[in-house]
Amino acid sequence: MRCQFCNSEKTQQFLDLGNHPPCIFLTQPELKDEKAYPLNAHYCPDCDLIQLGTLVPQEILFGENYHHIAALSSSFKVHLSELAANCAKRFNLGPQDLIIDLGSNDGALLEAFKAKGTKVLGVDPSDVAQMAIDQGLPTLREFFTEESAPRIVKEYGKAKVMTALNTFAHVSNLGSFVKGINETLTDDGVFVSENHYALDLLQGLQYDFIYHEHSRYYTVRHLVSLFSKFGMEVFDVERIPTHSGSIRVFACKKGAYPVSKVVTDLLKAEDDFGLAKADTYKAFAQKVTEHKKAFVDLLKGIKAKGQRIMGLTFPARAVTLLNFCGIGPETFDAITEGSTIKIGRYSPGTHIKVVDQEVLFGKDAPEYGVLLSWHIQKEIVPKFRAKGFKGKFIIPLPTPTIID
Ligand SMILES: [Zn+2]
Repeated sequence: MRCQFCNSEKTQQFLDLGNHPPCIFLTQPELKDEKAYPLNAHYCPDCDLIQLGTLVPQEILFGENYHHIAALSSSFKVHLSELAANCAKRFNLGPQDLIIDLGSNDGALLEAFKAKGTKVLGVDPSDVAQMAIDQGLPTLREFFTEESAPRIVKEYGKAKVMTALNTFAHVSNLGSFVKGINETLTDDGVFVSENHYALDLLQGLQYDFIYHEHSRYYTVRHLVSLFSKFGMEVFDVERIPTHSGSIRVFACKKGAYPVSKVVTDLLKAEDDFGLAKADTYKAFAQKVTEHKKAFVDLLKGIKAKGQRIMGLTFPARAVTLLNFCGIGPETFDAITEGSTIKIGRYSPGTHIKVVDQEVLFGKDAPEYGVLLSWHIQKEIVPKFRAKGFKGKFIIPLPTPTIID
């Protein structure tokens, strides 16, 4: 395989997770036709990009059955309003400024910017985008590429701020995407992206975050070189807690803003950790294997006592954890969810029934609940306790832990 970014032939596979389906919740008749694809992670020594070795076509991953909805997590909604407020203040946004959100989902970020008094436009090919349109938030239902740029500029004008939250890693042609952004931005325009941070992924054993919908995992070093290839420049980076470790990266046309010292500090931190060394990746893969054994043994011990386990919440990352660890309906009695889009369907690959999370607060509650959104445990554990869940929580990663 060749590197998705620099075309190098030297990429090395460091993790093989087996075959995994896309994150699509299935109805009963759909179970028999489900397809799975190899999921393996590679490292490119030439451009430091961590990436998947097998790419599943975007139409399969983000087509009509894609069910990620940003608005469902209340902490994420707060995060979006803070981002909008932060940008409005820092970049002096007013009613004349256009904000474009790429991968705008149900329009939650557009709504937050609109509340700050700016003009907004979303671009998102998934069916969830219809929810934004229904709320009166202008949204183009398409993939953003360099071909989109002249059309958007002609119809809506240039953008002062463009955002891409956790969508950057889904884009199949990164060069075309960044070129399009550069053409759409005003001269003092800013592109803000948030992505899971490869350093946090490796340090925190977050292998469940490796899934088909994320074909790339970013380092600051890689992003600095990516933007510089297209006449742009990273001028600031913030580490943020989203997905248990992300970076918010600010890029502009070269020279438009002074470059913060944080950028060089993070480049050094990446070097110090050994992001460029093969041994770092070998050690990571070994720890993944050890984690699987520890987690499966813990669950088996509980089942052997005749006790019941349910999965709590179903984020996309759970697809990898459950499939890789081979956890199906024989281990989980059900997965509980608050999202009506998922309830009544079956989990991808493992085919566990998804039920309304209200079951946790009544007499049929299980003895154990595995918190699949373990990265937001501080938000969920107290919330579920307050609503009446009396079972024990299991936090699956980075070390399987029981919370009484
Ligand atoms: Zn490369």
